[in-house]
Amino acid sequence: MKNKRTFKENIKMLVRGYRIVFKIYRKAIIWRTLNDIAGTLSPYFALYMSALVVDELAYSRDAKRLILLAMISVGGLFLLNLFKRLLQGRSNVYDSDTWRKDMYYYMETQNKMQYDHLENPDVVILRQKIFAAKNATGAGLSVLLWNINAVCRAIVNIILSVSLTVSMFKLVEDHGYEGFFAFINSPYSILVVLTLIFLNVIVSITTGNVLSKKVRKAYEDLAESNSLFSFLMKFGSDITIFNMRRQILSEYNKKLRRPSFIFKDRAYSLKYGSIRMIWDFIMTAVLFIFVAAKAYIGVFGIGSFILYRGTIAKFIDGISTLAERYGYLIENNDAMERVFEFLDLPDDMYHGTLSVEKREDIDYEIEFRDVSFRYPRSENWALRHVNMKFKIGDRMAVVGMNGSGKTTFIKLLCRLYDPTEGKILLNGIDITRYKYDEYMKIFSVVFQDYKLFAFSIAENVAAEMNYDREKVLSCLERVGLGKRIGELERGIETPLYRDYENDGIDVSGGEAQKIAIARALYKDAPFIILDEPTAALDPLAEAEIYSQFNEIVENKTAIYISHRLSSCRFCNNIAVFNHGKIVQQGSHDELIADKNGKYHELWIAQAQYYTEGE
Ligand code: ADP
Repeated sequence: MKNKRTFKENIKMLVRGYRIVFKIYRKAIIWRTLNDIAGTLSPYFALYMSALVVDELAYSRDAKRLILLAMISVGGLFLLNLFKRLLQGRSNVYDSDTWRKDMYYYMETQNKMQYDHLENPDVVILRQKIFAAKNATGAGLSVLLWNINAVCRAIVNIILSVSLTVSMFKLVEDHGYEGFFAFINSPYSILVVLTLIFLNVIVSITTGNVLSKKVRKAYEDLAESNSLFSFLMKFGSDITIFNMRRQILSEYNKKLRRPSFIFKDRAYSLKYGSIRMIWDFIMTAVLFIFVAAKAYIGVFGIGSFILYRGTIAKFIDGISTLAERYGYLIENNDAMERVFEFLDLPDDMYHGTLSVEKREDIDYEIEFRDVSFRYPRSENWALRHVNMKFKIGDRMAVVGMNGSGKTTFIKLLCRLYDPTEGKILLNGIDITRYKYDEYMKIFSVVFQDYKLFAFSIAENVAAEMNYDREKVLSCLERVGLGKRIGELERGIETPLYRDYENDGIDVSGGEAQKIAIARALYKDAPFIILDEPTAALDPLAEAEIYSQFNEIVENKTAIYISHRLSSCRFCNNIAVFNHGKIVQQGSHDELIADKNGKYHELWIAQAQYYTEGE
C-alpha cells in the first residue's frame, strides 16, 4: 500500500486520529495514563532510594538515617504500588468498554450517512476492510489508543532519566589524569556518548519500521483469512448436504498461506530483533564503562553510579519504545486512511434549506420530470425518462416485472437516491432544495425487505422508545392484529424474537408484515407506500391485503407496488414499468383494453395464478 506519505502528512493524520480517540475514549485514556505514570514512577523511586542508601552505607554510615531511608523506600514503594493497583482497577473498567465505544462511533457515523453510501459497493467494501482490520488486530482507532500508554511511558522515562542523569556529564578539575581517564574526564567522551545515543535512536527507528511493516503484512493476511473463514462458516447446511468439507478445508488452508505467515516473519523478527538487541547491548556496555570510570575518578559516588546505570537503561528503553511505537503508528496510518475515507464520505443530500410546508389539507403534488437514474458503479439505466404526476389522495399502482425499476422509482421518490438526470418536484419545487429530514417526514414506506427489530412490539410500531400507547394500539387494530395482541400477557410491551429476552415471541411472516404496516401507519405521513411487502404471500392473500390497506389509509396518498397485476386492479392510476420506463398508464379497464400493451401481456401470463379469484 501507499506508505509514501511525508512526515508532515503522517503527523497530521496522527493528530486527527488522536482527536477522535480522545473524544471517544476520554475516560479510558485518563485512567490508563494515571495508572501508567504511577507504574513508571516506582522504579525511579526505587533506584533513587537505593542510591541514597548505598551512599549512606559507603560514606557517613549513620544508623538512624539508614533506618529512616529504608523505611521511606519500603513505605513509598508500598504506597506507589497501592495507588497503582487502585488506578489499575478503574482503568480496567473503562478499558473493557473501548471495543463498544468505537463500534458505537462507527454506528453513529453510519446512521447519519446519506442512504446511497450504505448501498454503494465501494463503501460496503471499505467498511468491511475497516472492521476486518479492527477485529483482527485493532488496526485503526484501537491501535492509536493502545499506543498512547507506551508512548506516554516512554516520554516519562526519557524526561525522568534525562533529568536524573544530566549531572553524570559533570567534569572534575583536572587531577593530571592520563590516557583513558583523561579522555573520560574530557568533553570528547560526552560527544562520543551523545553520538552513540543518537545512532541508537536511528537504529531503533529503522529496525522498528521494518519490523512493524512485517507485522502489518502478517496481520493483513490474518484479516483476510478471518473474513474468508467467516464466509466459509456461513454455509453450514450446504456444506453438509453436498459433502464439501474437504474442499472447504483445503481452500482455507491454501488461502491462509501458513508458511509465509509463520516461518518467514519469524526469521525477519529474529534478524531485526537481534540487530536491535546487539545495539542496545553495545550502548549499555559503553555507558556502563563511562559511568564506572567517572565514579572511579571520583566525579560522583557509588550511589550515583547505581542510579545512573539504572536510569541509562530506562533512557535507552524509552528511546527504542518511542521509535518502535512511532513505526507502529505510521503503519497504522494505512488503516486510518480508510477510517478517514469512511468518515469523510460526502453528504450532498443534506444541502437543501427549504422547509416542507406543513399543510393542514396535506395538499401535495409530486411530479417526476424526465427522470433517469443509474446506480453508482452501474452502467445500466435503472430508470429512463420517467415522467409522472400524482396528487395527494390518489391511489396509484406501480406494476411491472421484477427488475423493471419499481423499487428504484420509490427510492428516488423518497430521496434515498437523487436522479442522475431530470428532476423530481414537490409542489413545483425541486425536492433537493428542501431540508432532507423534513422531506423524509412526508413518506412512510413498507419496503419489500422491511426489518423488524428485537424490541417490544410497541417500539417496533412507533420506531422510537417513547411511544403513544393509544396510537400504537389503534394502528395494530387497523391492520387486524388487535385480537392477537390482546391475547399476549404483556400486550404491546411483548418483545419480538428471543434474541435478548426469553419471553420474546416469534411471529409469522404475515404477522410481521402487519406490524411493518402498522409502523407505516403510526408515522402518519401524507404518502404511504407498499413496496411488495407481501412477496411471501400467495397472490390471493396479497390482493386481499392491498384492498384492505386501501381502506386503512383513508385520505392519504397510497402507492402500491407489485409485479402481480391482480393486487392493484382497484387503483385508478396504474403505471406499467418495463426496462426502467413507464410504458403505459391508466386504469385497469383502460390498460387491459390495449391488446398489444405490456399490461395485457402480463395479465394473460399471470392469469393462471388467480383465476380462482376472478
Ligand atoms: P423492481 O423493483 O421492479 O424489481 P428494481 O428497481 O429493484 O426493480 O431494479 C431495477 C434495475 O436496477 C434492475 O436492473 C436491478 O438489477 C438494478 N438495481 C437495483 N438495485 C441496484 C443496486 N443497489 N445497485 C445496482 N443496480 C441495482
